[in-house]
Amino acid sequence: MKIIAFDVGGTAIKFGLVDENFNVLFSEEFPTNTYKDTDNMVLRAMEAKLKEYEGQYDAIGISTAGQINFETSEINDGVGNIPNYNHTNLRAAFEPQFNVPVAVDNDVNCAAIGEAHFGAAKGESDFLCLTYGTGVGGCIYINGDVYRGSKYAGGEFGHMATHKDGRPCTCGRIGCYEAYAACRVFTASVSERMGKPMNGREIFEPENLKNPIIMEEINNWEDEIALGLRNLCYIFNPSLIVLGGGIMSEDMLIKDIREKVDAQLEDNYKHVRIEKAQLRNKAGMLGAAWLAAERLKNWSK
Ligand SMILES: [Zn+2]
Repeated sequence: MKIIAFDVGGTAIKFGLVDENFNVLFSEEFPTNTYKDTDNMVLRAMEAKLKEYEGQYDAIGISTAGQINFETSEINDGVGNIPNYNHTNLRAAFEPQFNVPVAVDNDVNCAAIGEAHFGAAKGESDFLCLTYGTGVGGCIYINGDVYRGSKYAGGEFGHMATHKDGRPCTCGRIGCYEAYAACRVFTASVSERMGKPMNGREIFEPENLKNPIIMEEINNWEDEIALGLRNLCYIFNPSLIVLGGGIMSEDMLIKDIREKVDAQLEDNYKHVRIEKAQLRNKAGMLGAAWLAAERLKNWSK
């Protein structure tokens, strides 16, 4: 049994083949706008790969940006940056065309499912997952499954309000958690104060950690991250929170966040473990592959 898995983001689409033991046999990525001159560039890009590898897979798993109706697979919202992608139904497009089951879910949900089965949350039935990148994504994992909410839009921790009268957010409202805690906001602020563009990896280079401006920025950013996590601890009383996004591979960051969150919690909340995600850029593909394998179990051609 093999599954072809996709991970669709605003700038790149990753894809690969996964075997029955969920080993990634190979993976590649290409720019999201490769088929920009077509009616629906993401749909056409995936269609091209599905044709290229036809006969080599038994199911299709798709992790994608956006809010997904998990029952129908229609993209409900949240992909305004990809032309004509909103309201695309990838299952309706691909199941009849390729005659294999198709599973589709939101990218953070897929990443959490990947971590739940193969990564930092292996063996856990309940945890929260947050990803820090361009924005802040979230997933609520309860009783061994994603809690999706009444309109499949639950767990959008990035748009919790953490600042009254705060900064504008990309969602059109103000004071959202991600307007303060997203990695993009942090690197932009450091770059502005340092007078040169700096990415996350550069900021955490040992030489730069001697710079008081950078250390002040890191400290402020960690405070913002910890503020949102404190709120989530009081709502969910979780035993585990998994933090994803490339920047979270910085050990110093995780250690500081643990200390800052712990300092704000009462005793009945302090047992929470805060761990970094383990699967890196494979999490979305593995989660999507797992969903596809589940759909394959009940599939009759
Ligand atoms: Zn917002």
